Amino acid sequence: MQIENLFIKRTKELPADATTSGHKLALKGGYIHQTGAGLYTYSPLGFKVLQNIEKIVREELDAVGCQEMNMPVVSPLSLWKETGRESIDVLLKFKTRAGIDAVVNPTHEEIVTDYVRSILQSYKQLPQSPNSLCLYQIQTKYRDELRARAGLIRCREFMMKDAYSFHTSWDDLNNFYNIILNVYHKIYDRLGMKNVIDILAPTGDMGGKISHEFQMVSEIGEDTIYTCSECDYRANKEVLTDKDADDILVCPKCGKPLNKLRGVEVGNIFQLGDKYTKSMSVAYTDENGKKQIPVMGCYGIGVSRVFGCLLEQSEDESKAVFNMAVAPYKVHIISIGDGEAKVLAEKLYADLTSAGIEVIIDTTDDRAGSKFANADLIGAPIRAIISPKNIEKGVFEMKYSGLLKEYSEQISINNIFDGVMEIIKKEQ
Ligand SMILES: [Zn+2]
Repeated sequence: MQIENLFIKRTKELPADATTSGHKLALKGGYIHQTGAGLYTYSPLGFKVLQNIEKIVREELDAVGCQEMNMPVVSPLSLWKETGRESIDVLLKFKTRAGIDAVVNPTHEEIVTDYVRSILQSYKQLPQSPNSLCLYQIQTKYRDELRARAGLIRCREFMMKDAYSFHTSWDDLNNFYNIILNVYHKIYDRLGMKNVIDILAPTGDMGGKISHEFQMVSEIGEDTIYTCSECDYRANKEVLTDKDADDILVCPKCGKPLNKLRGVEVGNIFQLGDKYTKSMSVAYTDENGKKQIPVMGCYGIGVSRVFGCLLEQSEDESKAVFNMAVAPYKVHIISIGDGEAKVLAEKLYADLTSAGIEVIIDTTDDRAGSKFANADLIGAPIRAIISPKNIEKGVFEMKYSGLLKEYSEQISINNIFDGVMEIIKKEQ
């Protein structure tokens, strides 16, 4: 990509509601455009990051046998009446021209359960963990929130990965639930998210028995989390206030003091049991020919919120920091001045592109300072800077700026392609 062709708007005058560094960076860097309150358009640059996040989520879920599918954005209200959820507050309802009461789905338990009941007959279709039946999608959701904030952190429309598993027993559900819990940690690790912890969570509107939230510990978070100073007890404030309203500062497990933190929820998992399968009459025939109701789990990751969190953890509102897997471009080539620097830059760009590397190149006449500032906003971990001064010395400057480290090297100009490829391999 030639930087001058990248069709994005770098917002200079930030709106008053952009109070967090991540929200400011999202607008300054041209990753998102606010279409309406709580409604964002992902620019060609922002959409690349979103797709890279999705790719990691897909790879890890596919690796444990989850099956990707796609369900409609809109569903008939009648499905929500079956489970008694037709009145939950975030549900956006409308009537179609044909007179059908419909919902813009904030989540898909009813829709996936309807799909499963149309197919499920035998216990043989519900293999045991680790091969349990788990269906997922990555799709736009809409929640009719009263207030939106912090850009991608709390929007009305957002991108979500939602997965649903079905089991013949609570034991099997529990085993699979623990597999997904570990998969989630692997996903957040690969995304380069720092400080994500799993905590006990309230079950709320979802019903069911056990639930965990994955929280990115951060001052900008809306959730209050308590972690034990001694044992592994970690919980959302709502769990503690449910059970122990008088004395919320002491660990219910070991009695030691609890630490109070703030967090942004980036994922949640629930053991739903038969709440949906029972009310929607899902059944299968067991080994003895008897009708049974399957139990269910559901597993969400707020994909666009993860994007917002990655920008938050960059901390500097003028500098995006991504790991190689998530960065919109892996290499950013900058040439200073015309002549040989430009020729070398274009040659490097062609060679890296042929090798399948996502590269952005800046051979414009802009001042060097403004080129570097744009490179900071785009966040490619590797920068190759080619200037006449360095060409004289027979080198170019290679800067690496990743999540945990920064370094720069001078590499021989004769070795320009191999030099960059080596860093790509090393930092992957
Ligand atoms: Zn404790």
